[in-house]
Amino acid sequence: MAGAAWAIAEVGVDGLPTRLALELATAARLIAGASGGAAAAVVAGPDPAAAAAVLADYVPRVLAVRAAAGAGPDVARAIATLAGADGSRDGRDAADAPAPADTPDVILLGATPEGREAAGVLAARLHLGVLGNATALRWGSGDDGAPPGPRVEKSVLGGRAVTTSAFTAGRGIVTLRPGAAAASPSGAPGAVEAVALAVAAPVARVVARAAAAGRSASVEEAAIVVAGGRGLGGPDGVALLRELADALGGAVAATRAAVDAGWMPFDVQVGQTGRTVRPAVYVAIGVSGAIQHRVGMQDAETIVAVNRDPDAPLVEHADLYVVGDLFDVVPALVAALRARRT
Ligand SMILES: Cc1cc2nc3c(=O)[nH]c(=O)nc-3n(C[C@H](O)[C@H](O)[C@H](O)COP(=O)(O)OP(=O)(O)OC[C@H]3O[C@@H](n4cnc5c(N)ncnc54)[C@H](O)[C@@H]3O)c2cc1C
Repeated sequence: MAGAAWAIAEVGVDGLPTRLALELATAARLIAGASGGAAAAVVAGPDPAAAAAVLADYVPRVLAVRAAAGAGPDVARAIATLAGADGSRDGRDAADAPAPADTPDVILLGATPEGREAAGVLAARLHLGVLGNATALRWGSGDDGAPPGPRVEKSVLGGRAVTTSAFTAGRGIVTLRPGAAAASPSGAPGAVEAVALAVAAPVARVVARAAAAGRSASVEEAAIVVAGGRGLGGPDGVALLRELADALGGAVAATRAAVDAGWMPFDVQVGQTGRTVRPAVYVAIGVSGAIQHRVGMQDAETIVAVNRDPDAPLVEHADLYVVGDLFDVVPALVAALRARRT
């Protein structure tokens, strides 16, 4: 499958592809267009038909894998089988074996907790390397001295430098950050192929999927993200944060300090060990801007911060930095936003 690119699509609780999944599908199509290979999207779930139909607007081929109630790692194992892995390749003995010949050259996943987990499973099963957290992706023809294959840009050293990497064998797995590629339909509907793959003996089972209460948009998809940190001080501060998010029509996010304190759920944590976001506006309330937090939000188009410390690290990265007590600033901001609506 020379130059072939696959996008592994995640599906939201509405059963449709996430915005990031559409970005991955577009990126797979563009990579395949540049390499002369074939592009496909893979979507797995108990009923993938609706998601597959949407993805078909972005790629010429969609593999709709009906995978009964398996959790992420099990589905990734099934996808690895689809990508050419056979069970005999498991284990350490096979670690140096090359990837199967019919494995796509580029497998794209979202830089999300689920995407990272699946990337690990696919890497082990397919004997491919992983380049994670890409901020940009293109096809390299080999004129830079590296083998033809994907070229992957990553933001490193807290955003102070950008690296471009290539796989030594010209093929591998890439996890892409939200916004690294723009989603754009192909203009020619693709073909959907239904694939029945047994997810044998699941080690974990997803028993239910539900939208989190009070979340208007997923943190990764929201155009406006309102994040709170330790400065919130507890539930009163969190309530204020939610009011601000409501007034702005944004999604609520948190630093690890706010999550560790038990004020906010882990699934809204932004940063090195949480989610990566790239919204139009990121509002940071009572957040110092530690590097482990910044790596998850520094690519936001506009960063606004409210902090009573004029010298917190975020001051160097914010477009607008308001020095003040959040318990004064945020209620005033909410009142002003509400007044503008009436
Ligand atoms: C391996 C590793 C992984 C990590 N992963 C993550 C991650 O994914 N995400 C993440 O966020 N962190 C992560 N961290 C933790 C990170 O290093 C910081 O500790 C954390 O981001 C700090 O969160 P904070 O900004 O909420 O808290 P602090 O750093 O304590 O900052 C609180 C800020 O609130 C301000 N403040 C206090 N009261 C008020 C008030 N009333 N009004 C206005 N401002 C006020 C203070 O001036 C201060 O700047 C990780 C750390 C490690 C070691």
